[in-house]
Amino acid sequence: LMFELDKVFRKKFSRRDFLKYSSSLAVLLGLSELYVPQIAKALESVTLKKQTVIWLSGASCSGCTVSFANTHYPSVAELVLDTLSIKYHETLMAASGDAAEEGLQEAIKQFEGKYLMVVEGAIPTKQDGIYCKIAGTTFLDKVKEVSKGAAYNVAMGTCASFGGIPASGPNPTGCKGLRDVIGGTVVNIPGCPAHPDWLVGTIVNLLLFNKVPGLDRHGRPQMFYGKLIHDNCPRRGSYEEGRFIKNHGEELPDIEACMGTKGCRGPITSADCPRRLWNSGVNFCIAANAPCAGCVEPDFPQMSLYEPIPEVAKTIKAAEAARDKSAISTLGASLGGAIAGAAAGAGGMYYAQEKAKRKATDKEEV
Ligand code: SF4
Ligand code: SF4
Repeated sequence: LMFELDKVFRKKFSRRDFLKYSSSLAVLLGLSELYVPQIAKALESVTLKKQTVIWLSGASCSGCTVSFANTHYPSVAELVLDTLSIKYHETLMAASGDAAEEGLQEAIKQFEGKYLMVVEGAIPTKQDGIYCKIAGTTFLDKVKEVSKGAAYNVAMGTCASFGGIPASGPNPTGCKGLRDVIGGTVVNIPGCPAHPDWLVGTIVNLLLFNKVPGLDRHGRPQMFYGKLIHDNCPRRGSYEEGRFIKNHGEELPDIEACMGTKGCRGPITSADCPRRLWNSGVNFCIAANAPCAGCVEPDFPQMSLYEPIPEVAKTIKAAEAARDKSAISTLGASLGGAIAGAAAGAGGMYYAQEKAKRKATDKEEV
């Protein structure tokens, strides 16, 4: 994939459009408007560059390719996607057989040390990787070969980042994530699938600033994975008040109750889904009445999907105890107040620990 930004700017955009694009990029990257002049300056220098991307697909469902194709910032999509010159992408390219393989080898040679490698899907490693082969070569060897000449290595989706579904027990093919196979700095963009903005934003960041964005302890860009789902959840108020759903699809007003009782992993999952939203800003899991499954975390998928996670189970128990106490109290503080106090006691301690842990282990990697 070749991004010929110089052509885009020279042929299509006025100065006004250019600044508008810079604004969109600031939003995408989670930066304030104050950064627009800096982004515009960086974009101007980027117009002189050409960036090649080689996209390899292993043990995956191709959902991340579909998700990427749904990028919903029209201006950014136009900026990035309209200028593609597909060098190698097994799902999207027209070439097949020898022509496809020759194209890949040519791209590796011609753009050595400059291209971006994107890997989608887990990498089978058992028996020297014989469970996934492309053009007679194992995916394991292919990934190692292509990564050697790459300027940056990116894992797209949870399977490529941590193994994901193909690596879930009993994992007979020994599937692993990219970082575990090639080592070194890998930008992980997990999600099942990954949000298109997370990859587009990362690529734009690499192009603009010529460096890897700040990563957290799991190799994820902090700008997209820096906050717990729980901290921005529209049902957080219900959690604090001890209002939990008993069954899925309950009638209003309990439709807005917390889904911790149904295994919501929002309190231990870091992503910006509640603010960024999915499907062109339409919705996200919890707002659509489905608990967060923690799809961006290294331990996804969990088999106990609908069991309360231990941290929330404590809060549910505390809320129930407070409710019982309130029911027999004759003086009675308000029910909400009693439950909220007990819940905050159990939940608050967990958050203090979790946040201290994150602060200590997250680090900037460049
Ligand atoms: S447990 Fe889930 S539904 Fe409840 S407040 Fe947290 S993120 Fe929202
Ligand atoms: S809300 Fe949770 S399960 Fe849904 S996409 Fe975001 S991280 Fe994945």
